[in-house]
Amino acid sequence: MLKSKASQTSIEQRNTTRMRVLDHIRSRDSVSRIDIASALQTSPATVTSATADLISAGLIKEVPGDPPLKSSKRGRPRVLLQLDGGSYLVAGLKVARHAMSVILVDFQGTPLASYNHPLADAQMTPEVFVRTIRDALQEASAQIGKTLEDLSGVSIGIAGLVDAENNFVHWSSSLTERNIDFGQILPKEIPCPAFIENDANLVAKAEQHFGYGKGLKNFLVVTIEHGVGLGIVLDGQLYRGERGCGAEFGHAKVQLDGALCQCGQRGCLEAYVGDYALIREMTVVDQNQNPRTVADIYDKARSGDVMAASVLGRAGQMFGLGISNLINLFDPECIILSGGQKGLEHLYSDEVMTRIRSGVVNVDTPLPEIKVHHWGDQMWAKGAAAYAIEQVSILKVKDIPAHAS
Ligand SMILES: [Zn+2]
Repeated sequence: MLKSKASQTSIEQRNTTRMRVLDHIRSRDSVSRIDIASALQTSPATVTSATADLISAGLIKEVPGDPPLKSSKRGRPRVLLQLDGGSYLVAGLKVARHAMSVILVDFQGTPLASYNHPLADAQMTPEVFVRTIRDALQEASAQIGKTLEDLSGVSIGIAGLVDAENNFVHWSSSLTERNIDFGQILPKEIPCPAFIENDANLVAKAEQHFGYGKGLKNFLVVTIEHGVGLGIVLDGQLYRGERGCGAEFGHAKVQLDGALCQCGQRGCLEAYVGDYALIREMTVVDQNQNPRTVADIYDKARSGDVMAASVLGRAGQMFGLGISNLINLFDPECIILSGGQKGLEHLYSDEVMTRIRSGVVNVDTPLPEIKVHHWGDQMWAKGAAAYAIEQVSILKVKDIPAHAS
């Protein structure tokens, strides 16, 4: 039987309330019903109903609070609510050039297992890509005596243009094909709900949950590794754009008809700043130079190699230009430069800061804070796991039967 519009609206309202209550409990270690009602400015009866539903779905549990003071009129000990960590096992997975990093966490985000799955090829067909994800998840699950069937959800972070809402990847440097509907392909190999998302957005999520973005309303995360990514958090929410391609900072043009980018266009920022661009540039200027990593270029520059210093210097200048544009566009509280590679010094030097300052149009207030955060692929995967917990929560809340409250 079709539900009436009015009852549909009331179901949506009830789910929104449940999610607000769940998010509030997640943001605290443990909290009482009365404190939730007061924080969310809603009635105790509404909170009691929502928490009963969340307990029945296994998302939260009751725990004893401190015993009441002798002087207190209340005789009963306080009951607090917290996330039920053991209820669901979720996975976060980050696809890098040489490996897929997996982290398994409980529902409170506590890491239970981690695994790095080496990749034979940096670019894969969608079918090989999904099979490799399955293998990596199996290996990680086996570490704690679990199987794929024990997972309640997995989130996959990938570089490129991703429509996260529809599990659709328009383009990624990890894939041999464009416009792949992973909503169709992932269920063939992965038995649990899977959510694919732009990797820089997942780093922004990780920064918001566990890093420098905690407590900030408006901040940007610039990721620098093989390419250059951007995560935008505005008013506490991740901004994805209308088609999921709203933060392609790496493909912002910094040079008319400039260097060839891996996206196929010319003059993109990452064609000057990304790992591959620096290594390519070194090889172009001197055939005898054969750096394999950015760390090699650093070592050369440090030992007085003028060419290496000049390649890093140009990258810094282009980067400074890009960052000043971001400040002009967003006026953020903070910009977090996040990367796993050794050394971001050339992107954080005094020369780059001068370049940023000279490109920022508001000269009357100090620059937003610019922080550098080094973290490895496991931290990217942790951001993916945080996203998986969020998405599994939404699915479980939707699954609560209508008669539960
Ligand atoms: Zn590009």
